[in-house]
Amino acid sequence: MKCPACQKPPMKFGQFALANGPVKLRCQECNADLKGDTVVKASYYLTLLIAMLFSIQLLGFQQQGQLSWLEMVSGIILFVTVTLILKGALTWYFGSYIRDWDAK
Ligand SMILES: [Zn+2]
Repeated sequence: MKCPACQKPPMKFGQFALANGPVKLRCQECNADLKGDTVVKASYYLTLLIAMLFSIQLLGFQQQGQLSWLEMVSGIILFVTVTLILKGALTWYFGSYIRDWDAK
C-alpha cells in the first residue's frame, strides 16, 4: 500500500486493518486526500456485509439459548478481529489508493 503522491504508506497497517481498510483516507505523510480503488471498496463493503450476517446468525443462536451473551459477544469480536486482520492484509497487498481530487 503506497500513497500515489509521496510513495509512502498512507497509514500504519494496524490502523488500516482496524478501520476496515477505509474507502477514503488522508495520507499521514503528505496529507493528500486519497480514495480506494475497486479492490478497497469491494472488500470494505463485503466485510461490512459478512460481519452483519455473521452477527445476525450468532444473535439467532443466542436467542435460541445455544449461546450466552458473553459467548456471542466474544464470538463477534473474535470473528471481526480475525476478518479485519486477514482482509486488511489482503487489501493492503492487492488494493491501492488514488488521489481524490474531489475531496474538500
Ligand atoms: Zn502521501
